[in-house]
Amino acid sequence: MSLEPPYKLTVKRALVCVILLAMPVRSIASPHAARSAQTSRLSDNAQVRAALDWFAPNISWVNDQQARLTAIPAPPFQEAARAAAVKTLLAETGLSVEIDKAGNVIGELQGANEKEIIIVAAHLDTVFPAGTDVKVHREGTRMTAPGISDNGAGLAALLAMVRAVQSAHLKPQRTILFVADVGEEGEGNLRGMRALVEACRSKLKAVVVLDGSGTDHVTTKALASRRLEALISGPGGHSWSDFGMPNPINAMVRGSVRFINTKVPVSPRTTFNIGQIEGGTSVNSIPHEARIKVDIRSESEDELVRLETALRECIAAGVRDEMESARDRSRGKLEWKVDLLGSRPGGELSADSPLLSALRAADDAVGNQSRVERSSTDANIPLSQGIDAVSIGVGGSGGGAHSLAEWYDSAGREAGLKRVLLTVLGVSGIAEEKSR
Ligand SMILES: [Zn+2]
Repeated sequence: MSLEPPYKLTVKRALVCVILLAMPVRSIASPHAARSAQTSRLSDNAQVRAALDWFAPNISWVNDQQARLTAIPAPPFQEAARAAAVKTLLAETGLSVEIDKAGNVIGELQGANEKEIIIVAAHLDTVFPAGTDVKVHREGTRMTAPGISDNGAGLAALLAMVRAVQSAHLKPQRTILFVADVGEEGEGNLRGMRALVEACRSKLKAVVVLDGSGTDHVTTKALASRRLEALISGPGGHSWSDFGMPNPINAMVRGSVRFINTKVPVSPRTTFNIGQIEGGTSVNSIPHEARIKVDIRSESEDELVRLETALRECIAAGVRDEMESARDRSRGKLEWKVDLLGSRPGGELSADSPLLSALRAADDAVGNQSRVERSSTDANIPLSQGIDAVSIGVGGSGGGAHSLAEWYDSAGREAGLKRVLLTVLGVSGIAEEKSR
């Protein structure tokens, strides 16, 4: 569809374009009253209504963009092709779009107050390695493909937001950056969001992260996590003639068994996962190397530290056990190390934040209820720095995230998109046109 460039305002209209809806939510006694006031003021605005009305007739367009973007592979550290496609789609709407050094696609919708910024972000990357078949199978409202929900759904919602806002010629009070960011998954270590927050920290008022499907949750608590790699190496040799030489895989197995027997508390919830294991060259070789990648998460920073220490101790003990049982220790020594691949800081949105009020008002407006969750998302970075942030699903339903059978069903998607838009506009405010 064709859209007019966003800022084709006449001088007269531009002059009367002022005033914000930024609600003094903190000063209002009843949160529900505040929310109702916020909702009604927003939906009283004709342009907001026009933007909300954009979704229903355009759901199939949104679905098509989701399928199209999901079919462009975006393995970790290889998001460029998908980023280029998003850049084109954002630029078509008249936004000024650039790709920053990190690889983030940033579309800017200038607000009346350019000194304050709201970021709306959906991550570009998937967990799937290059070569994964990402063809999208569609049947009715259901689509199946790796990455279709996480985060094809978020990217499609991002594009829908921009289209809705631009088609309604809506000018926000605060500048909104619509961003498709890199490096959310795994070893990407949130590098895209880190770069974004770094670049606009002094102006940044809130971050709304669009990730996955659904409307049943709002992530306001950032789960702290660490990713570690343990490596054990030795001389390696022949399975027959060098038998008795210390074996790095044996040592890794011994250490891993110790580690997975580590007790972790139910509360604060603490988890660990050995997610990858590699090493060896052939069945008849004593390997020269073995490595594992481990993800640890906890509601408590102390537990995280304790678990990381446990991993180091267990790997060291595994090496010691293997050396002690080796028949011929003169034939080589094992070396080991544990490296930090990534660390996601924790944080929490305050219960009386304007962003949470805006989200609750949006929930009320679309008749939705959502529960607060703790999770590890792009919102970790702003939350850890005291900047308001949430991560929310974008409507519809989905499942099988991070699996080859991942699916998304767009039924009910409209309410989710409205919820996102009302949340974003609730914190950006509208530069209202006032008639004289
Ligand atoms: Zn995701």
